[in-house]
Amino acid sequence: MGRIRRLDPQVINQIAAGEVVERPASVVKELVENSLDAGARRIRVDVAEGGLRSITVSDDGCGMDPDDALLAVERHATSKISRLDDLARAGTLGFRGEALAAMASVARLELVTRPPAAEGGFRVVVEGGAQRSAGPWASPPGTRVTVRDLFFNTPARRKHLKGPVAEFGRIADVVTAHALARPDVRFELWHNGREVLRTSGSGDPAVAVLECFGPDVATGLIPVAAAGDACRIEGYVGAPRIARASRAWQFFSINRRPVQVPSLRFSLENAYRHLLPARRYPVAVLALTVPGEEVDVNVHPAKLEVRLVRERAVASLLYRAVESALAERDPLRPAAPGP
Ligand code: ADP
Ligand code: MG
Repeated sequence: MGRIRRLDPQVINQIAAGEVVERPASVVKELVENSLDAGARRIRVDVAEGGLRSITVSDDGCGMDPDDALLAVERHATSKISRLDDLARAGTLGFRGEALAAMASVARLELVTRPPAAEGGFRVVVEGGAQRSAGPWASPPGTRVTVRDLFFNTPARRKHLKGPVAEFGRIADVVTAHALARPDVRFELWHNGREVLRTSGSGDPAVAVLECFGPDVATGLIPVAAAGDACRIEGYVGAPRIARASRAWQFFSINRRPVQVPSLRFSLENAYRHLLPARRYPVAVLALTVPGEEVDVNVHPAKLEVRLVRERAVASLLYRAVESALAERDPLRPAAPGP
């Protein structure tokens, strides 16, 4: 008798879940992205004990009818693409159809949803990959997903998590990154019943920056704007005096998706190379707009990293934009030629 056995689907799902759901902050990221993809104008994130106990994301988006709600928690079920070709065009943040199924396989997931035009809502509960209940449920229009006891059935993964304070810090970074990338959406973040962050959804990036960073930092920000044929850049960089001891205050977005691109961070910091001592990092909120077909988001399931077709041109435009914003602020210091 051979030694090779097919894995049980539940085990396959748990393994795959590790790619998408690494920690509470990844749950928040996936749920917030789903809310944005659903057209939400308002998103509220409620976290208990750094997300280790529970995470709830509620939105006023398009909701789901009962059939879709049941499909949504299954693997590779998505309303966003149907062919590989659609990927490049997917204007949505998600597209793999994996996030809800992954969470449902490694936590206790409750989904309550109602399309605005429907008379009532619908609720599905899945725990460790097994459906516990499904049926009509009173609900306001929109969707509310609660994820409790993350990794309750995969103790090895649970052991890798940090304490509630550190895990909450990562959650706050995720929500802040989205709030800055989407000033037109109202965000709220609550931790253990206390409000931590609130944005007004005014649509004005300057207002979102003030709401996320507070007046002390906001008054030290310098506007940046540049346009080239590879990219358009808008946002703010911090005056050297408000530099930080970490990169936690650097937020980049591409086409309204929060991203981390090492070459862009390098260009930013390079523009400050004569202005900051070692281990001081500039504050920055930079929104880049590039042609959709020049971004590849299909690099990693966590999708924070993206590839840009004209990455060098974009990075050098960013360098020059930041350099000249800093020089304008300090007219005695002439702008250096490009890198
Ligand atoms: P993906 O986002 O990659 O499609 P998910 O597992 O995150 O995969 O979600 C599966 C599907 O469930 C989505 O394609 C969408 O149709 C639906 N869905 C998920 N969250 C929401 C939400 N907050 N509002 C409306 N529909 C949602
Ligand atoms: Mg998704």
